[in-house]
Amino acid sequence: MDVTLMPVGTIGRPLLEAVKARLESLGFSCFLSKEHSIPDKAYNPLRNQYLVHQFLDLVNTEEGHHLLITSVDLYIKGLNFIFGYAPGPNAIISIARLQGARLEERTVKEAVHELGHVLSLGHCSNPRCVMHFSNTLSDTDYKSVKFCSECLKRLPPSFQE
Ligand SMILES: [Zn+2]
Ligand SMILES: [Zn+2]
Repeated sequence: MDVTLMPVGTIGRPLLEAVKARLESLGFSCFLSKEHSIPDKAYNPLRNQYLVHQFLDLVNTEEGHHLLITSVDLYIKGLNFIFGYAPGPNAIISIARLQGARLEERTVKEAVHELGHVLSLGHCSNPRCVMHFSNTLSDTDYKSVKFCSECLKRLPPSFQE
């Protein structure tokens, strides 16, 4: 599957390159696009967070698959925050809550997780599987960057090792 990796806001180049390399090692074809600015209208001053939908609107009229990576904290109605979101052909992740020594590893996991949803995978009960739902950072740290064998079976042949 071809994916355009799109930074929204300032994301370090080494982090983007690391995500790109890991996605390619898993079977995605990845292209890095230029940086886009954060959609101002998405900001909610009462929450000091950004509503996710305006971000996805940046690419929803474009062909193909996009993975947006933003530096700001995202939310959706009914949830305190989201690590990522993938309602259709495009997905987004936020690195705002992934900071620390494991930033790169966490970002890769959330990227793979959301792209798994784009590939029609649901959440997996295996806590080591990348498709396990992360409620907290410790869930993210516990799971691996890989799809478990059950999830892998549901993916196209290009993802089989
Ligand atoms: Zn999920
Ligand atoms: Zn799984």
